[in-house]
Amino acid sequence: MSIMVPSKTPALITPGRQALDSALHQLDQAAEQLGLDDGLRTMLATPRRSLTVSVPVRRENGRMDVVQGFRVQHNVSRGPAKGGLRFHPDTDIHEVTALAMWMTWKCALVGIPYGGAKGGVAVDPSTLTERERERLTRRYVNEVMPLIGPDQDIPAPDVGTDAQTMAWIMDTYSVHTGFPVPGVVTGKPKTLGGSHGRLSATSRGVQIAALAALGRSPAGSTVAVQGFGKVGAPAAQFLADAGCKVVAVSDVTGAVYACGGLDIPALVAYAAEAGGVRGFREADALTHDELLELDVDILVPAALEGAITEANAPRIRARLIVEGANGPTTPEADEILTANGTTVVPDILANAGGVIVSYLEWVQNLQAYSWSAEEVELKLRELMLEAFAEVKSVAAERGLTLRQAAHVIGVGRVVEAHQLRGLYP
Ligand code: GLU
Repeated sequence: MSIMVPSKTPALITPGRQALDSALHQLDQAAEQLGLDDGLRTMLATPRRSLTVSVPVRRENGRMDVVQGFRVQHNVSRGPAKGGLRFHPDTDIHEVTALAMWMTWKCALVGIPYGGAKGGVAVDPSTLTERERERLTRRYVNEVMPLIGPDQDIPAPDVGTDAQTMAWIMDTYSVHTGFPVPGVVTGKPKTLGGSHGRLSATSRGVQIAALAALGRSPAGSTVAVQGFGKVGAPAAQFLADAGCKVVAVSDVTGAVYACGGLDIPALVAYAAEAGGVRGFREADALTHDELLELDVDILVPAALEGAITEANAPRIRARLIVEGANGPTTPEADEILTANGTTVVPDILANAGGVIVSYLEWVQNLQAYSWSAEEVELKLRELMLEAFAEVKSVAAERGLTLRQAAHVIGVGRVVEAHQLRGLYP
């Protein structure tokens, strides 16, 4: 076995490097199951293309700051590269590579005709004014122009970016090409060709996956949500709508708990006003660790990678974990959870609703046509449930965890596409 990746330097193990190690470990397990040879393993372990760029940005005070940006296309055997763009101070080439790899398996698993990609800019967007964010976004697009395009690589929102960011990407790309190209990004505002349901698609998918995995009436099931942002907040609402009792949520400011269930719309309004959930009335304060260790039916990690580790996994009491975030559970934690009988619906399945509706948006853009909210929702549900059923049956057949089964299916489909196309020259 020879996966050729840069060797670990203990002093340099960043969160991004840890994410990439997790992704490589998961690939390795799938490769073992599929009996892949060393050449294929190495090809799948390394990205097809990666670009690191310097992004100079003019600040309001006239100063110029330079930040690093990345775009990684992990694999394009099944179709154009697809994946979000993240603005986060800790992002690095390793994290973006891991996230791109997960996109490849995710798209293959849910059967949409894409490869996998991801972008990142190492910046804290909350420290920038809106005009600075716009200039940064446009300059980043300028630098990655050779890679992106509706038939090449299609960005979308991720941590720290939103529909407005996508509008600037679409505009910058279109100005360069000389005509409007809505299909170059997904997650755009509705007016520019965005799709019904895209904003809440990841969360809707989390709800669909959670209810499918629960396998019984959700009425009264307790839920804790880690991360009350773009994915976690609507997921909490959707689970409450389905009859669950969302007893705890957290964000960077803190965690809140109410044994009778939190009033989610009131909490959303409070967090918007106060800048976070901390201090919400009619709820008790918890620490971040206490939230993860609550005795609930469903735990939804919906923040960043590496939230559930070998340090806290032994204390996790939730019977079901549904991963709204990408990579929230480390491989060491996975083993502990499996040994304790916890079911984990893995990220590449649980949070695939986002890229599924991105695909539906892109198809609408290519057709210059708009589907109804009902059509989009129906298709999302169909693709999520189909993938869920496949993962469950492969897991049962092969005696694997849901994560291992999801990777066997995703990696297997990419390998099949690669073999059908053959190696050039
Ligand atoms: N950033 C989301 C993800 O990690 C969505 C990607 C997309 O829609 O292309 O799945």
